[in-house]
Amino acid sequence: MMESSDVVIIGGGVAGCAAAYYLALAGVKATIIEREGIGSQASGFSAGGLNPLEGTHIPGPLGPLAMESYRMHRELWPQLKADTGIDFQERMLASIKVAFEESEVPALQDSLDAFNRAGSDGFSGRWLDRRQLAELEPRLSPEILSGVYLDGNGALDSYQFTGALVAAAEQRGARIIPALARGVRLGNGRVESVVLENGEIPCGQLLLAAGPWSREAEPWLDIAMPVDPLKGEILRLDPDGPPAAADFTGGGASLYVKPDGLIWCGATEEWRGFDREPTEAARQSIWTAAARLMPALAQARLARHTACLRPVTPDWLPIIGQAPGWDNVYLATGAGKKGILLSPALGQAAADLMTGGKTGLSIEGLSPARFAPASRSDAADAAGSPDNRAVN
Ligand SMILES: Cc1cc2nc3c(=O)[nH]c(=O)nc-3n(C[C@H](O)[C@H](O)[C@H](O)COP(=O)(O)OP(=O)(O)OC[C@H]3O[C@@H](n4cnc5c(N)ncnc54)[C@H](O)[C@@H]3O)c2cc1C
Repeated sequence: MMESSDVVIIGGGVAGCAAAYYLALAGVKATIIEREGIGSQASGFSAGGLNPLEGTHIPGPLGPLAMESYRMHRELWPQLKADTGIDFQERMLASIKVAFEESEVPALQDSLDAFNRAGSDGFSGRWLDRRQLAELEPRLSPEILSGVYLDGNGALDSYQFTGALVAAAEQRGARIIPALARGVRLGNGRVESVVLENGEIPCGQLLLAAGPWSREAEPWLDIAMPVDPLKGEILRLDPDGPPAAADFTGGGASLYVKPDGLIWCGATEEWRGFDREPTEAARQSIWTAAARLMPALAQARLARHTACLRPVTPDWLPIIGQAPGWDNVYLATGAGKKGILLSPALGQAAADLMTGGKTGLSIEGLSPARFAPASRSDAADAAGSPDNRAVN
């Protein structure tokens, strides 16, 4: 039997580490159980983009939480960096969306409207014609018709950010145990301890933050955590010339400019179970799309090719809240394609619920109860088959 912990968190991705951080700020020392390394999965390989204005259910039910979390990021960064000394490359940057066809122009108008509506949060947008695009980035394709310049998004290195969250939590008493969590020991209607491959750790409360592996814990507690892995591959390309002026999206490609001059290109979206191998087919399709948008990338050097898994729920909304039927079990998972953006809000909400039973954050509709057995069939009907799920 190991030393007990007020809170045990299963999963050392950005969700678990953010929860440990906000619990630490509230004076609660959590223990993170992580089997493959902090930030070793999607949290360490994401594109690190922070756009609270667009995405699945944004605008929509996820919009308020996305904006709250975006604001939390910006408030959090200076202190987190000062506390840990970790450079997680947090920055604000412009993002340029372009159209190759007339049919793509209305989507640009939608983006423009969304950014201009959020002006009070520092967002703005404007049209760019061909000449303005070429001035901003001469390496762009001459076939582009027009574009929009969208200002106000954030970006960071999500591996370093996850590491900074956990380092700041450790400074306040949190600890990490590198181990596989195999199950739980129950007593008096509560989880009394978490069973590891190499021991057992008694806990006051348990937070499940296992990302795409959440379903592994369903039989431990007879609860539903329908989170599936959506594979995403990214190419990190090293082009000639100066760093790109902004992130670019269009023609099926997304280009994320990084402070070291690399351009990360992506990302694929495939339901392939837990396969995490980069593939030749993905390499070709990403590179082809990237070179259509910026032809110079055809000659760029491939610095790295990564693959990782997004945690996606049937309704494409995260799961945050108390596990149905369990007083001392909470869930923070299923943030899909927005897990880095949403991490401060999910971490703070988990900490609020575990320490005080409520939160002021906009988590209505995100409770695990929506997947409880009585409503399971309704949820499945609403979601449709995996292939029908909205991808954005
Ligand atoms: C290609 C790609 C690009 C992305 N880009 C963005 C982006 O630009 N912006 C954005 O906001 N989001 C982005 N995301 C999404 C984001 O990366 C994820 O939503 C987020 O990282 C999920 O974090 P998590 O902590 O829930 O899961 P994970 O990072 O998967 O962490 C879960 C952890 O739990 C551990 N674990 C699981 N089971 C156990 C167990 N039994 N015992 C011990 N440990 C266990 C795993 O080892 C893992 O480390 C992207 C994702 C991908 C794949």
